[in-house]
Order: sequence, then structure tokens, then C-alpha cells
Amino acid sequence: MGKTTFQPLGGNEMPRFGGPSTMMRLPTQENTRDLDACFVGIPFDIGTSNRPGARYAPRRIRDESSLLRPYNMATNAAPFDSLNVADIGDVAINTFNLEKSMAIIESAYDEILQYSCTPLTLGGDHTVSLPILRAIKKKHGPITLIHVDAHADVNDHMFGEKIAHGTPIRRAIEESLIDPLRSVQIGLRGTGYSPEDFEWARGKGVRVIQAEACWYKSLAPLMDELRKTIGAGPVYLSYDIDSLDPAFAPGTGTPEIGGLTVIQGLEIIRGCKGLNIVGGDLVEVSPPYDISGNTALTAANLLYEMLCILPGV
Ligand code: MN
Ligand code: MN
Repeated sequence: MGKTTFQPLGGNEMPRFGGPSTMMRLPTQENTRDLDACFVGIPFDIGTSNRPGARYAPRRIRDESSLLRPYNMATNAAPFDSLNVADIGDVAINTFNLEKSMAIIESAYDEILQYSCTPLTLGGDHTVSLPILRAIKKKHGPITLIHVDAHADVNDHMFGEKIAHGTPIRRAIEESLIDPLRSVQIGLRGTGYSPEDFEWARGKGVRVIQAEACWYKSLAPLMDELRKTIGAGPVYLSYDIDSLDPAFAPGTGTPEIGGLTVIQGLEIIRGCKGLNIVGGDLVEVSPPYDISGNTALTAANLLYEMLCILPGV
């Protein structure tokens, strides 16, 4: 106590359909100097191979986040009581140039990370995780990656291009941005280009937990085990919304049937409590395919849950 922290604008101060269109209707900040954590958007989808639209996700997620209240009734987390959190807006990517956008995003995260602020990113397609991890490495060294996704995202190239939304995890391992021996992929499934699609990361030492190994069960025991093996080092959580079954999250570029439930998604994120989380992202929401808004609503909630498991909450 004694520290004054920013608070989301409450539903009894301003109707939830009004007020600022920031994440959870938090105040905005120009930089992260006074912040412990920030929400930041990357309206980027030029790395998408098929159904585009993730460029609209930050705005749509913020819109749905107006429904969120500050206290987590399941975990008792009270993130805004202990952390100073604001919405720092969007990264001004160059939507005509993917390579330039990579550099723009990396330098934006260099700026965010110059203070002790943990970024929680509203993607964007999954390409955005690569420049974020490049910036994170400069501050924290190679980190443990918890990657939740229907896809391995370890393609060597897509249509000949090394940087696309299906390649970031391969680049991250090649560039030693992450420590594969402590990293994990959860929720992988569907059809592949070859039977070995999920083996590349395994060959590098990544623990790959396919969706079928998650069916019919709570993932809380898995997370208990992962916390023990990961230990105290820095961890980045990259959450692709398509890890969830399309019944729950249809508004995404590359849906795959037989996916995780929303409850399992919550178990994964809540199970990260106690880890030294240094950043997280929620990627691949595609509002044009999200007719009900449920995908963006789920994304908003999962981002809030990430805030709730940060060190210091
Ligand atoms: Mn992905
Ligand atoms: Mn995916």
C-alpha cells in the first residue's frame, strides 16, 4: 500500500459501452517509465499465409476488454492493487514492408524494456513474437518459451520467405533467443506437410505436448510439473488463440479442430503463476472471422489472466 497505481475505469463510473477504448479502459501512457506492466498492440498481419485480419485484433480485443472487472474471482489476483499498468497504444508498423516492420517492432520493445516494465502484447499474427523475443534476449538472455498453439511454427520458410507467421519459433531457436531445453509447446495438432513436422523442435530439445495428450483432462498437473522443471529463470508466454478449439475461438487465421478448451487455456496461464514471466503475447485473433466477438472476448480475458500471474501480483 501507499503506492498509487492506475486503475481501469469502473462500470459504475462510466457505462461499459462508453469511455476510453484502451485495454480494460486503463489510462494511456506515452512510455513505460512509471509502469510495472503495459498492454501494447501490434496491428500486423502481413505475415499471415491464409486468412488475414489480425491487424484489426488489438482494437477489437480492447473493445471486448471493456467488459472486464479488476479482480480475479478464481485466483484472488488483484493486479491493479500492486502493479502500475497502462495501455501504451500500438506499434506503428509499416504494413507495406514486413522486414521494416520487424525492425520497427524490435526497436519499440527495446524502448519498452529500457524500464522495468513487462509487456503484454495484443497481436497481430504470430510473426510479431520474433522481434519481441529479439528485444527480450538483449535484456534477459535466452529465455524459456511457453508456446501455446495448434501449430509448431517451425517452418524453415513459407513460400520462400524466412519471416512469416509459420516460422517464428524456428528463427527463435536458430538465433538462440530461447533455450529449447527448457521450452515447451502445448496444443499442437491437425494436418501437416510431413509426418515429421513436430519433430524439428523435439530434435532441438523442446518438449512438445500435442493436443491429443491434453484431451479429456485437466492441465493443472502438467503445469505443476512444468513449473518445477522451468525453475526461476525468465519465461516468455506466447499464446496463439488457435490453440483453442474453433468452437471457442473461430475468429483466427488457421483454425484446427480438436483443440484445447477455454478452461484448459485458463489452467495453462494460471499454472504459470510463480514463474518469472518477463513478457507475454496473445496472437492470431482475426476479427473478420470472429462474427460473435467471442474470440476477441476470450483473448481479452486471457490477456487479463496473464497480467494476474506476473511476479509481484
Ligand atoms: Mn502460431
Ligand atoms: Mn497457430
